[in-house]
Amino acid sequence: MRETLVLNASFEPLSTVTLNRAVVLVLQDKAVVEQSHPGLRVRAAAVDIPVPRVIRLCRYVRVPFRRQAPWSRRGVLIRDQHRCAYCGRRATTVDHVVPRAQGGRDGWLNTVASCAEDNHRKADRTPEEAGMPLLRQPFIPSPADAMLLAMTSGDRSELPDWLAAGAAPAA
Ligand SMILES: [Zn+2]
Repeated sequence: MRETLVLNASFEPLSTVTLNRAVVLVLQDKAVVEQSHPGLRVRAAAVDIPVPRVIRLCRYVRVPFRRQAPWSRRGVLIRDQHRCAYCGRRATTVDHVVPRAQGGRDGWLNTVASCAEDNHRKADRTPEEAGMPLLRQPFIPSPADAMLLAMTSGDRSELPDWLAAGAAPAA
């Protein structure tokens, strides 16, 4: 469910994110609400902000002109928010959905974040063979998606190394 449009600081549309991510970006002071749903508020604990329809990043980010973010293990963990694709707990490893032993390759659509236990348990089997269904399907993040995911992943650095390396230096 992607319901909030994200604009760059220059007002250029970047991507869409879930309401949850939009709220995180606003609460982390990385974005401001440009348009909200009239009369609706997000209320939880100490949080009370309008439900954003459009947010705008406070700092201009340069998105590398690429159709696809390059695959990396770190990128998979960020894409999956360090959540295990099999049990939902914290993931520290990357699992090949179709195992390498069966010809599975590195790539966004064949890799998911996994906890060490599930990675070990699944071993050289497919999810079907192991009886371990995926909680969500892997997807290919666009460079803008990858950047927004990294910004809300709780990482210290706003840009992951593998994306920052492809970004042009700020003018
Ligand atoms: Zn797990």
